[in-house]
Amino acid sequence: MDLSYLLNHLGEDRELYFDAVAPPITQSTNFCQPTVQALRERIAHEYEAPFYTRGVNPTVAILRKKIAALEGADDALVFSSGSAAIAAAVCSLLRAGDHVVCVRKPYSWTHTLLNTFLARFGVTTTMVDGTDAENYRRAITPQTRLLLLESPNSMTFELQDIAAVTAIAREHGCYTLMDNSYSTPLFQQPLAMGVDLVAHSASKYLSGHSDVVAGALAGRADLIRKVFTGEFMTLGASISPHDAWLILRGLRTLSLRMERAASSALKVADFLATHPKVSRLNYPYHPSHPQYELARKQMKNGSGLLSIEVRTESFEGVERFANALQRFLMATSWGGYESLAFPVCAFRKSKEAFDLPLPWNLVRLYIGLEDPELLIADLAQALDQV
Ligand SMILES: *Cc1c(COP(=O)(O)O)cnc(C)c1O
Repeated sequence: MDLSYLLNHLGEDRELYFDAVAPPITQSTNFCQPTVQALRERIAHEYEAPFYTRGVNPTVAILRKKIAALEGADDALVFSSGSAAIAAAVCSLLRAGDHVVCVRKPYSWTHTLLNTFLARFGVTTTMVDGTDAENYRRAITPQTRLLLLESPNSMTFELQDIAAVTAIAREHGCYTLMDNSYSTPLFQQPLAMGVDLVAHSASKYLSGHSDVVAGALAGRADLIRKVFTGEFMTLGASISPHDAWLILRGLRTLSLRMERAASSALKVADFLATHPKVSRLNYPYHPSHPQYELARKQMKNGSGLLSIEVRTESFEGVERFANALQRFLMATSWGGYESLAFPVCAFRKSKEAFDLPLPWNLVRLYIGLEDPELLIADLAQALDQV
């Protein structure tokens, strides 16, 4: 992959816009035609050319080309959120009566989509421990149409053996959809490992500056066209040209940001791995991770997201740690420039009331672009407060 060409030039067609280096934001709802015949052609080719911005828009089209090329896909669609991208893909592949096998502990709204929303429309789902690919096979029924992967997941970072799961899917005639937000296409290429559709929260690394909510879906031309004419146009979760432009701008530095994330996160992980106040570190690209070998096989590197279990008996111990952090903002999301901490104890009022399938003492840490030594010093002083 000629990454520099792709991030800097692919799809830009600068001769179409006064040779400007940065593309214009084509902030137009609709696109006009000189004759009835030309209008007829545009209507017939709504997937190929700008007609109405809910479908195709020139600024969004540049972004689609870059994301498709990054993932090694024929085509890509960009949505107004990652959840919209996942929902459109899942709905496109399923009908009432179908069954899904999904990895346990996926992104929370993916869980809700399958187990609450689609359950209302007659779709059933089995959640499996994805650390053993054979669990997918065991859960498959004659009604199974889709196997859903998220490797690693974004709280506890378990992996699935992607090639093994896609091989099982092929044997059973099932589709596969994978959430690749954690790794980005730079660090993991699911389509090359047999996945049919790859989804992203572009709110995270692809945009990279904590100023956009967006999503993307990439895959084979026939599958993407089916999503476009179905869920994309019907449910209408399209992105604004301005937000697409912000992602284009963010992509210029994607490889720099990912390299920095990988090197900083590994330094922080090394520090946390042996700290007496940390009872567990979850980082897929650290030798302490139980699936480190698999991570090295299917990922090029780790990104900036990891989690720890704080060694304490009480909610208050976790709270003292999180409250003491000076250089980590306490917020959800990740993938931007700024370091973040998210203690899951914030989901409930007390340890007794904590009923989530996560350890109550788990704190997710997102390592941003700051100096990693300063982040480590901050973690050290905060862990002393536990
Ligand atoms: C944030 C996130 C999503 C959802 O994306 P939005 O852009 O917030 O809708 C999906 N999957 C993962 C892994 C995420 O982190």
